[in-house]
Amino acid sequence: MTGTEQIDVVVVGAGLAGLTAGIRAAEADLRVRVIEQSTDEAYLCNSRYTGGLFHIAMEDMTGDAAWVRANIERATRGEGNGELATALASNAKRTLIWLKQQGVRFITAGPDGLRRNSLAPPGVRQTGLHWQGRAGDVMLRTLADALRRRSGTLTRGVAAQSLVMEDGRCVGVRVLENGQASEIRARSVVLADGGFQANADLVKRFISPAPDRLLMRNARTGQGSGLKMAEDVGASLVGTESFYGHIQYREAMTDERFWPYPVLDSLATAGVVLNSDGERFCDEGLGGVYVTNAIAKLADPLSAVILFDDAIWNGPGTDWLLPANPFLLNAGGKLISAPTIEQLAAQLSLPADKLRATIDGYNSGVAAGQMVAAPPRTTSPYKPWPVAKGPFHAIPVCAGVTYTMGGIATNAKAQVLSQGGAVIPGLLAAGATTGGLEGFSFSGYSGGLSKSSVFGLIAGDTLAETLSGTARAAQSA
Ligand SMILES: Cc1cc2nc3c(=O)[nH]c(=O)nc-3n(C[C@H](O)[C@H](O)[C@H](O)COP(=O)(O)OP(=O)(O)OC[C@H]3O[C@@H](n4cnc5c(N)ncnc54)[C@H](O)[C@@H]3O)c2cc1C
Repeated sequence: MTGTEQIDVVVVGAGLAGLTAGIRAAEADLRVRVIEQSTDEAYLCNSRYTGGLFHIAMEDMTGDAAWVRANIERATRGEGNGELATALASNAKRTLIWLKQQGVRFITAGPDGLRRNSLAPPGVRQTGLHWQGRAGDVMLRTLADALRRRSGTLTRGVAAQSLVMEDGRCVGVRVLENGQASEIRARSVVLADGGFQANADLVKRFISPAPDRLLMRNARTGQGSGLKMAEDVGASLVGTESFYGHIQYREAMTDERFWPYPVLDSLATAGVVLNSDGERFCDEGLGGVYVTNAIAKLADPLSAVILFDDAIWNGPGTDWLLPANPFLLNAGGKLISAPTIEQLAAQLSLPADKLRATIDGYNSGVAAGQMVAAPPRTTSPYKPWPVAKGPFHAIPVCAGVTYTMGGIATNAKAQVLSQGGAVIPGLLAAGATTGGLEGFSFSGYSGGLSKSSVFGLIAGDTLAETLSGTARAAQSA
């Protein structure tokens, strides 16, 4: 072990959550060091890959707080922690203003609330991955500059390994830097490592029996190190069973042209999603994020197929950002098509009689306006379309995992909670490494950028409040 150093705050992870917390704490004149595991100047993370739409529950995050709060309730069906939802809703607008004060630029990228506050320059509207010089890339450079202006430090190539605890208080973090172990002592530690989506063991423990058969629709940097470090010191975990993600073309597993866009959600939520027996296995009407989670939980997540007809292809298939029609075909993807269900079954190697029974049962449910057959299907907001008139089409799909929605349990001040529900002194967490706000049995999605920025800012506020008594100078407003 090499030497030690004493600072006020060490932040683990230099994504949106970590930089926001770090800058806010530095504004209060605290001595802040943000550590980032990657050595690269343009270190990859989900904040760099992001599409850049700052929203809450797919709506404008700067709206009236009560309205925003109700939107979270609707999206999560009330399953999330109410205190976290209230904190998110009531701090959303000021967080966006604060980000603008740091130099982050926004534009309105579309007529709806989802696109009202989009990073500038906006993400490229093309299939495949394009992050250089746009949205998240520019945001991270801007925030890193803001941190330096506040005399905070960002050190790359330093990976947190475990937390240092003394008398029940977190007093630092053990790190590896250039292969050398050392300890960074601090009065508080903020975990902002971005989730556990890229850790196969944790994904197997919580989410899917076959992690290697999921598409990493992410930067592969969320290795769950924050969750493991927190769990090791007695932190409580919450909502770890679900993730935010989208249904993607199966070829995306090996072909970069097909991820993170196009997403196939709108086809799946209008038509049917089938397993390898030709049977429906989930409620398509609960939305694309829910269906993606259901696919991930199959014994073989690479066995799911979506099936639809021309009317769906030319209707919902053209809907949403970079939809399958025409972007999947433009990127080189193909539909599997046949004039009858039986011929399609043969092409998909599915049992024809079972597939026919599945489609007949589904169509009669649609005609009756009620889908009671197992599994039942919700009819709003995603209306089931009949799969009635040939040619019929199918697309083999996979579950694209963007980030895990559950994780370390925190209170509304971003303080980490122990299994008994008490605050673990000196330990905070923010962003995709945390749980409690979104996910759960309906995979309700609140929003990645809003969660990471708002709770990053709240973590910084808490540091300012709890450490300012002995901070080097008075806390700024
Ligand atoms: C393709 C894509 C599109 C998206 N589009 C949107 C969108 O339009 N709107 C939206 O709301 N959300 C979107 N998201 C999600 C959103 O971008 C993320 O949820 C958010 O940026 C996460 O921020 P974070 O700071 O919590 O984590 P990250 O940005 O992942 O940052 C975590 C950082 O911690 C570092 N780290 C990890 N472990 C350690 C360790 N042990 N020691 C030191 N450093 C460590 C990582 O290297 C990383 O740099 C998208 C995500 C992706 C991948």
